[in-house]
Amino acid sequence: MNALSAENDGLTPLMRQYYRIKAQYPDKILFFRMGDFYEMFGDDAVRAAPILNVALTSRGIQNGEKIPLAGVPYHAADKYLARLLKAGEKVVVVEQVEDPRTAKGIVKREVVEILTPGTATLESSLEEMSASYLAALAFGAGDQVGLAYIDLTTGEFRLDEGSGDNILEKLYVLAPQEVIYPSGENEPELITRLRRNNSFILSGYEGWNFDTKTAVRELSDFWGVSSLDGFGVGDKPVALAAAGAIYRYLRENHRERLDHVTKISTVQSDRLMQLDYSTIRNLELVTNLSENSERDTLFGVVNRTVTAGGARRLRQAILRPFITLEPIRERQAVVAELYHRRDTAGEIRESFKEIPDLERLAGRLGMRKINPRQMASLGQGLTIMPRIAGFLGIMESPLLRKLLAALPDFTQPVQRLGAALTEEPPLTANKGGVIRAGYAPELDALVNSIRDAKSYIASLQTTERQRTGISSLRVGFNKVFGYYIEVTKSHLDKIPPDYIRKQTLVNAERFITAGLKEKEELILAAEEKIFALEESLYVKLMDEIAEDLEDILLGAEIISEIDLVSALAELAYDKMYCCPEISEKPVLIITSGRHPVIENILPPGSFIPNNVTLSIEGQRIMILTGPNMSGKSTYLRQAGLIVILAQIGSFVPAEKAEIGLVDRIFTRVGAIDNLARGQSTFLVEMIETANIMHNASERSLILLDEVGRGTSTFDGLSIAWSVVEYINEHIRARTVFATHYHELTGLAALYERIVNFQVAVKRWEKEVIFLHKIIPGGCDDSYGIEVARLAGLPKMALGRAREILRLLESGKFNQSELARGLHREIMQRTLFDKIPSAVEEEIQKINPEALTPLEALRILDKLKGMLDED
Ligand code: ATP
Repeated sequence: MNALSAENDGLTPLMRQYYRIKAQYPDKILFFRMGDFYEMFGDDAVRAAPILNVALTSRGIQNGEKIPLAGVPYHAADKYLARLLKAGEKVVVVEQVEDPRTAKGIVKREVVEILTPGTATLESSLEEMSASYLAALAFGAGDQVGLAYIDLTTGEFRLDEGSGDNILEKLYVLAPQEVIYPSGENEPELITRLRRNNSFILSGYEGWNFDTKTAVRELSDFWGVSSLDGFGVGDKPVALAAAGAIYRYLRENHRERLDHVTKISTVQSDRLMQLDYSTIRNLELVTNLSENSERDTLFGVVNRTVTAGGARRLRQAILRPFITLEPIRERQAVVAELYHRRDTAGEIRESFKEIPDLERLAGRLGMRKINPRQMASLGQGLTIMPRIAGFLGIMESPLLRKLLAALPDFTQPVQRLGAALTEEPPLTANKGGVIRAGYAPELDALVNSIRDAKSYIASLQTTERQRTGISSLRVGFNKVFGYYIEVTKSHLDKIPPDYIRKQTLVNAERFITAGLKEKEELILAAEEKIFALEESLYVKLMDEIAEDLEDILLGAEIISEIDLVSALAELAYDKMYCCPEISEKPVLIITSGRHPVIENILPPGSFIPNNVTLSIEGQRIMILTGPNMSGKSTYLRQAGLIVILAQIGSFVPAEKAEIGLVDRIFTRVGAIDNLARGQSTFLVEMIETANIMHNASERSLILLDEVGRGTSTFDGLSIAWSVVEYINEHIRARTVFATHYHELTGLAALYERIVNFQVAVKRWEKEVIFLHKIIPGGCDDSYGIEVARLAGLPKMALGRAREILRLLESGKFNQSELARGLHREIMQRTLFDKIPSAVEEEIQKINPEALTPLEALRILDKLKGMLDED
């Protein structure tokens, strides 16, 4: 592709204008508005066309080559922009900033917006139920990394600091749309790692933008405070540098209005549980392991919220449950009250259905990106508040009373919006129809000034039909030609002499009269003023309503919380959950607990409930053995999910539960493919196990499934054994350890606090039936071959596997054992039950005593070969 540059001669004025703007944004795609299209030229077009799936054409000739061109219609721009952003592109939107009809020469164009994956707030690319973050990383001394992140759609702005690994973990949980980092010669190792794993869209940003002092100064100025002390972020200087970079990045990308970003706060690690990325994945809290969607996840199953804000709050709650008693008990009390007052809960939920996404509308208002229709919807949402206050008035739980007391009064903004906006305002503010009559006298005067002209035009069709006798005569308007009188060709002989020809169509002619022309000019001139005035009134209205942004955001938060608790009450009722007893006792006692998701997938009533009894001072570690597919993982996860539900203040799927606060849940579950993170399965397993051993405390809940499976048997067994010992002696945490190594059941004999459990199995004829019931005792068989049979492995392979298993399990072999094995083989192959003499002789030659399993296998194979020849 030839290099396109502004210096090239022979350019049209339009292309010159294009290159002038493009030169400032060499690495971004320019969306260049031309009439009803956004056009992309040159390399931009070549890059974007395949992403957007639009045709690549060309325009003009430049240095003997055609200039590539691709375009999208302006009214569908959001959809296309979203696609480009998803592909990691950044887009500069260039608009026509004067009316093409009145422009002298080339239409003036300006950059109005720069969209990057983390700063765009396109409705078409936003997930309703999850946040949309722009994150920044800053690097301090040693391994200290600062993280800041903002959700522009709601104004949430937070910071956090920690070691590289710690922050990386948090980044994975956060799943930001874009991560900015200080670019420069020495790229931090963390960034190289992120780049290699291709996990996020990374945007390098000049290093000098990441500076703590500048950040403090600029952010203080932004909020109009003398220092940031009031926000309690003083102890996170590295993260502040990241926050400052975010602020600069936003401004640079034309996000100057951020009124809804009312504060910055730290992540409250002392009040909320920090779940690591692998635990969130393993427990399938918000996305499932199989398809990365919300289906069959804890969130997917328990979410009964009716507002988008409520759903986002529930999702957040599940990812960060409480770890202190008070907030859990507070919320639980509300859920319990609503559970018992289903009518009220139902009414509240019904009224919530009319509420728009207040939080995001507030966000749009804060950025001045709210259109008149959305503004009306915001007003509509706020009018419902008094009704909700009415419902809350009859409730008793302290949290609801607190929320009611905090609910702001929205009378003023509601009245203001009601008075200002028309019944159904349009999507744009600059084409009229936004402002209600009676709101602004100067607007009313303008509207009145053309009333006569408008009624003249309105009645023109009737009067002209009468005058000319043409019954099909029509008066119309179009944007290019203005008002016209249309007469079909067959009636042209009847037109009066004062008709002036304006436009010829296939079957008709369009005319104007001097009188119509005069009225048209009057109307168009006034309308231009009306549109401009309405727009400026709308801008003023946004400013006025934005004064109440803090209240609106608070109101939105209260609505989300009430939605969340009433949804939990509905869930509890619907799914027959019980109210758990939460305490600081070192126990976890669940009676007849169920797995909330599996229970939902299986036919009603077919899930087998199970008990959990764990106590730091008593039965501390459960070693759980049992066949594959019997329900070990289900049981293990179930314990974790019940604790999470309990600690967000929800009821739980059990008959009864007593939950001693858990500070963190750690899991190591099965072999999940972590190739995306560039690590081998066994390494991941060990990293996860090491993480648990370093970070778990006595108050944690540890759920381990299959530790040591990724390596050779003896290695794995030894590691598993020592891990259990370490947890028991040094961490003392409540633990469930599911394993196929039945050798581990030996631990129970050595340690008082380690107890064996197994999944009950019934043998029926030759088959094994899984009862999914957890009972005391250790299991000495893993029934792997049974599962292989269920899975439909060929009969021959199954027989062989049984044979090998027998050999391996007995450890050493002798003549008679081999003879017996062979005898079975013969029975299966022929009707004879006698070993042929040649084979018999061969058996006699074998060392009658010890044989290793491998030697035995080899001999067996040889003998079978002889049989085949026989
Ligand atoms: P593996 O060792 O192969 O990982 P596992 O013992 O961990 O197997 P799970 O994956 O927990 O087995 O369970 C397998 C299937 O058994 C589940 O998908 C579910 O359909 C069924 N199941 C598990 N627990 C129960 C239960 N309590 N009641 C009814 N069905 C259950």
